[in-house]
Amino acid sequence: MNDLELARRNIDTIDREMAALFARRLEEVRQVAAYKQANNLPVFDAAREAQVLANRTEAVPEDIRTPYRQFLQGVMDASKTYQYALLGDTVVGRSRVHIERGALRQADLFDLDRKVLIVTDDGVPPQYADGIAAQCKSPFRFVFPHGEENKTLQTAEKILQTLQVNEFTRADCIVTVGGGVVGDVGGFAASCYMRGIDFYNVPTTLLSQADASVGGKTAVNLGGIKNSVGAFYPPKAVLIDPETLRTLPQRRIADGIAEIIKEAVTLDGALFAALESGKADTETALRRAVQLKKNIVEQDMREQNLRRVLNFGHTVGHAIESVSGLYHGESVALGMLPMCTAEVRTRLISLYQKWGLPAELPVPKEMLFAALRHDKKRVTDSIAAVFSDAVGSYVIRKVPLSAIEQRIRETW
Ligand code: NAD
Repeated sequence: MNDLELARRNIDTIDREMAALFARRLEEVRQVAAYKQANNLPVFDAAREAQVLANRTEAVPEDIRTPYRQFLQGVMDASKTYQYALLGDTVVGRSRVHIERGALRQADLFDLDRKVLIVTDDGVPPQYADGIAAQCKSPFRFVFPHGEENKTLQTAEKILQTLQVNEFTRADCIVTVGGGVVGDVGGFAASCYMRGIDFYNVPTTLLSQADASVGGKTAVNLGGIKNSVGAFYPPKAVLIDPETLRTLPQRRIADGIAEIIKEAVTLDGALFAALESGKADTETALRRAVQLKKNIVEQDMREQNLRRVLNFGHTVGHAIESVSGLYHGESVALGMLPMCTAEVRTRLISLYQKWGLPAELPVPKEMLFAALRHDKKRVTDSIAAVFSDAVGSYVIRKVPLSAIEQRIRETW
């Protein structure tokens, strides 16, 4: 055996020993994760990690400190990933979705060691953007007026200008902090600045946490048509801190619940029953909704078929939203009612009452029909619409618009 072969054989032996040691290390990490979960502590403690890294590196001979540091950092990163997996992180495509109370104060999932543009709107309590800024080496901020009417190319352009004026490069990033409007417009700007820079999302409304956080859709509205310009551009990571919901008005909470109910009624009868019985609180429902959406989206990244189920309630819902001034989730809640059997409808309505969601049409039916026809352009066209004939299931049927109008008449 020559020297090379001997050295390789020795390395092989050491690697096997290290594998056994690493397995033991992960056993301990599992205990740590369980303790943190039980005590509501964040997975990652930046100060502690820096200290451990420094102490351990100090203990090895000077000439191997740099490679040892790199090695140890890798071990620590692997331990963190393991903990996140144990605590139920959801990984969708290339995005990791992490849900944890207080997570906003420790955004270790994000690489903030570069220029960071924090995009938020003036309706989002500023402490959330402040919390992220405090963890950035070089934070910049872009705040625009809240509201769907500002989800425009003009806002995206201002974000792009802010990036340009501050000499952001392709290696820098955007963090969006806010509801679906902020995530959509900020994500869209990230998708096109220098042909795409990293983007992280911190959704702070229940609707954006449950629905907009997964799926990688970014968009702006153009010429009064919602989401007509956009890109599939998933954030690198999504951080959901349920504590941000404390400042969200109850009506907005109910608005988010409507999208969760939509997923439950079509995909998960057990979740629906848990919402009915009160066994699922908002956070449990949110976690399940993220999982459900992940399962659908992963099978159909570009919305070609399966993902259509997520549009349940949206055909009629969009029309209601455009003429009523109701929120998106509220409109979808109403939009689900004509698309299901009487039995499902009864259960839906009693859930709506619990959450303070509307069950009655707030506009005359004729107004809704006009909006539907406008939305769907030609009256004679048949559309592929999603129906639920039993809780926990759905079916897609091609029907003429007149059939949907008939169902609306039967519902209200
Ligand atoms: P929103 O972004 O307009 O937020 C609602 C309001 O709540 C705003 O005034 C905002 O300033 C305020 N707010 C946000 N966080 C808050 C907090 N923690 N406390 C108090 N106030 C807070 O609305 P939304 O319902 O979050 O999102 C709707 C938008 O999301 C629509 O434009 C819709 O098209 C989009 N959307 C996108 C996707 C997607 O997959 N990309 C999915 C669903 C919805």
